[in-house]
Amino acid sequence: MSLENIQYDAIMHEYNRRQLRSRHVLEERKKKLYRQIPRLKEIQDDIAALSANRVRRLLSEDRAESASAYEAKLADLARERLCLLKERGFPPDYLEMPFECPICRDTGYDGGQKCVCFQKMAADLFCQQYGLGQILEKENFERFSFSCYSDKIKDSDTGKTPLEHARFAVEKAWEFIRHFDETPQNLFIYGDTGVGKTFLSHCIACEILKKAYSTLYFPSYDLFNLLAKETFARESGDGGIMEYVLNCDLLILDDLGTELTNAFVSSQLFLIVNERMLREKSTIVSTNLSLETFPGLYSTRTFSRIIQNYKFINLIGEDIRLL
Ligand SMILES: [Zn+2]
Repeated sequence: MSLENIQYDAIMHEYNRRQLRSRHVLEERKKKLYRQIPRLKEIQDDIAALSANRVRRLLSEDRAESASAYEAKLADLARERLCLLKERGFPPDYLEMPFECPICRDTGYDGGQKCVCFQKMAADLFCQQYGLGQILEKENFERFSFSCYSDKIKDSDTGKTPLEHARFAVEKAWEFIRHFDETPQNLFIYGDTGVGKTFLSHCIACEILKKAYSTLYFPSYDLFNLLAKETFARESGDGGIMEYVLNCDLLILDDLGTELTNAFVSSQLFLIVNERMLREKSTIVSTNLSLETFPGLYSTRTFSRIIQNYKFINLIGEDIRLL
């Protein structure tokens, strides 16, 4: 699954819609303002006439002399327009196209590359594909319940109860969310099946999506399957799903260890972990593998990157899904 044609078309259609909307908003503003301040309309007409004239002159011989004279006149008119807008309490860019993304001016491309807003839209589309939108309605911090975690039995390794582990996990999760704007961070959530790792990662995803960051969630099994299919039947054109995996603001790789582990998976996991660190993007990995089995299944270099750059969260307890 790279960005399929139909998804690509949907995104480009959205840019089209945004541009039409901007044009419409601008036309309405102009109509209103020109009625209120007729001088603005005159200025606009003068600018248009001067610009046309300038092009005509540029094509003729006396370029140097004409260019500077026109520039000066245009600058005068622009200044006058700015003053008029300011006097009446309008923002200085009120008569410019109101783009949703000033970087790519709602074209989706910036210097031949896909703009960040394009990446975000593509990530949203993938989210929809995985039904993350619906999941997050049910799995978020408002629904997170500490009552699922026992405060009776203590873990023999840590000497702490499941509840204490859960409290620590939620505290670290909120720290992650609070600092998301400032610095890239990574979490490694581990523990047995059913102790709430996926639920917690969904809670985090929900908050990060609220901040309008591109967030991709993949069950590990699905992601490596997709990457394998894509590698073996290389689709033409863009960098495929990996492009989004490496570039999204937050990647959640859920249930690592449930996929069929082999050399391909191991190398792809290293690429993802390493490359996202270099690109300063945040990643959350969850797994029910123990810390001892991890380096045996994947590579030691992947594990050492994780040890050095991830915060570890250990959830313990009974299978919540059965409670
Ligand atoms: Zn953009």
